[in-house]
Amino acid sequence: MNYFSSRSQTSTCPVCMRGAIAEMPMMESLACNFCNHIFTLEKEPNSVRQILRMADTISTLRWVWTGQRWENANAVQVYTSRWLSALGILLVLVPTAIASLAAYLFPPDPDVPLAWFPKFWAIATFCGHLVVLLSITRDYTQFPLQAYWRSIKRSFNL
Ligand SMILES: [Zn+2]
Repeated sequence: MNYFSSRSQTSTCPVCMRGAIAEMPMMESLACNFCNHIFTLEKEPNSVRQILRMADTISTLRWVWTGQRWENANAVQVYTSRWLSALGILLVLVPTAIASLAAYLFPPDPDVPLAWFPKFWAIATFCGHLVVLLSITRDYTQFPLQAYWRSIKRSFNL
């Protein structure tokens, strides 16, 4: 019952949450029809649980089959991703808060040249850190931004 049969079942891809993963013809691996990631199916040692492992990247992401969907496989993965999200939010918020606070506490004379600079700096701080955070997140989760971009372009016939 709690068994994923790669031959007769497809399931939602745990990476892009959009495509379906199914067995590739004549191969022992599975592939997603949307983000093109390749996975291998394994049995967990001393357990009946099945593990889906990402096979086409150096990423160590794994998922376990719950009967309906793939769930993050190990506690470490869940723990690190929660911890990293919290850290990521701080990485964006703290420097922005410092820059904004400085702009607020020491407002420049509105007539001086570059009076706009502290506010601009606060916004730039926010954007810069957000970009860093997003690119780390993308590398870590292998989130298929390009596949989504292709699909958006297709739907608009670009
Ligand atoms: Zn996918």
